[in-house]
Amino acid sequence: MKQNLLTTLGILALGASALAHGGVELGPHGGRILEFSKNESMHGEVIMKSKEFHIALLDKDMKAVVLTDQELTATSGDRAKPEKLAVEKKDGVFVVPVVKAGEWVIFQFRENAKAKPVTARLQYDLTVCGGCKEPEWLCKCAAEKGKGAK
Ligand SMILES: [Zn+2]
Repeated sequence: MKQNLLTTLGILALGASALAHGGVELGPHGGRILEFSKNESMHGEVIMKSKEFHIALLDKDMKAVVLTDQELTATSGDRAKPEKLAVEKKDGVFVVPVVKAGEWVIFQFRENAKAKPVTARLQYDLTVCGGCKEPEWLCKCAAEKGKGAK
């Protein structure tokens, strides 16, 4: 038990430092990858399209998943005053209105109406990264570092 807890804490710490230094997971279409499962079997890829977030579902191999019964909610704003965003299903993706620069969006994904929700967070950080010149929410530095190491 203790071991598990330590591992979990280690992963959380890693996640936090990755955020602090930029460097995020990007998908096959250059979008930001969100974890929509506890076992890497479902992901969301967030891209920006005409002032909306378009979120496509991807499986464990980053292949497209057909949007059927899956559900998504999105909340933004600060803790004191959270604001629910209108999520639509359109052309096989979830469509969510864009938030203000720097704001966090909390997503809750369900495989279907009865499934347990999985929470994923995204900070819409438009600060330009000094490393890759992309906005931080789409920072490519981690991927490039990874390539260099291999
Ligand atoms: Zn970068």
